[in-house]
Amino acid sequence: MDTVVAYTDTSESLKESVRRAVDLLEAGQVVALPTETVYGLAGDALNQDAVARIFEAKERPHFDPLIVHVEGKREIAGVADIPDAIAKDVSRLTEEFWPGPLTLILPKKKVVPDLVTSGGDTVAVRCSSHPVFRKVMRSLQKPLAAPSANRFGSISPTSAAAVLKELGGRIPLIVDGGACACGLESTIVEITPGDPKPHLRILRSGAITVEELKLYGKIDKSTAVPEGSSPGAPGQLESHYAPRTPLRLLQSAESFVPEPGKTYALLSYRGREEDGYLALTDFVRVAVLSPGSGKLPEAAVRFFFLLRELDEAGVDEIIAEPLPSHGLGVAMMERLRRASA
Ligand code: AMP
Ligand code: MG
Repeated sequence: MDTVVAYTDTSESLKESVRRAVDLLEAGQVVALPTETVYGLAGDALNQDAVARIFEAKERPHFDPLIVHVEGKREIAGVADIPDAIAKDVSRLTEEFWPGPLTLILPKKKVVPDLVTSGGDTVAVRCSSHPVFRKVMRSLQKPLAAPSANRFGSISPTSAAAVLKELGGRIPLIVDGGACACGLESTIVEITPGDPKPHLRILRSGAITVEELKLYGKIDKSTAVPEGSSPGAPGQLESHYAPRTPLRLLQSAESFVPEPGKTYALLSYRGREEDGYLALTDFVRVAVLSPGSGKLPEAAVRFFFLLRELDEAGVDEIIAEPLPSHGLGVAMMERLRRASA
């Protein structure tokens, strides 16, 4: 299959690309679309054949459920029920964070194929803020299943070029909307009633931080998914986000002793000498997440992009510096831990 890359850099190309995407989606095909987090591989969420095509292109095992995108809070009703006990909380969260990178787990409606939810009775619902994605949704008027547009277990794509490398030849269309503004996947949250605030269980840390969510609920540490375990939420699989090159996440600069004859690349946070990592060995390549001065949002935008670049550098091992364990650093550290598993 030939994969077409469609552009959105002029108002005409944008219009034409959206039309092409909508035509394909209406015909039950899959299309890679930009979102604010990472590129998604979209298909009509209520069309079993389209959903099957997503799994096939990604080589994704059927036990790993898909996130469903809706246009806004009102459209949740097309795919999920909102229990009365958390209706107010869902309203608060969607008012604050939608459109944006927050995914909510809700009881699924029957119309949603079991394939989408891996047979489960809940569905993950999200509302993207990306203007191109929103244009497609507005024109299509259907919910879209859209997991990250990479092969299963591989690094999430944050550019159209990365999608082409992952899925070129397998899908008919990639809409190029430029680099993703967040660069990390959505935060997945399960809400249970609580007084005065609901309990929010974070099933996957992501672009919305714990600090932001704290205002809207009690972050449930008791039920939080333990690091590295693989419960029902399979984004939690150990090998997720893995480069092909072995990756080692350091605890400290002192914990690294280079092996003679081996080649290394460094994923550095700030790229500063005084952090103690640059001089550890003669790194073949150094990628700096936040050359700006140690800003986590800057690091997040560049995170998967640089990980991909280092993976292609042909070294024996990628060495990753630890990142601050707050804000967006939590999501990046979780991904680095999994990549090093
Ligand atoms: P991706 O869109 O590729 O980032 O993957 C979607 C992830 O969302 C899955 O790997 C699961 O971890 C999570 N997910 C999707 N549906 C559910 C659900 N019903 N319950 C819990 N987690 C879910
Ligand atoms: Mg994914």
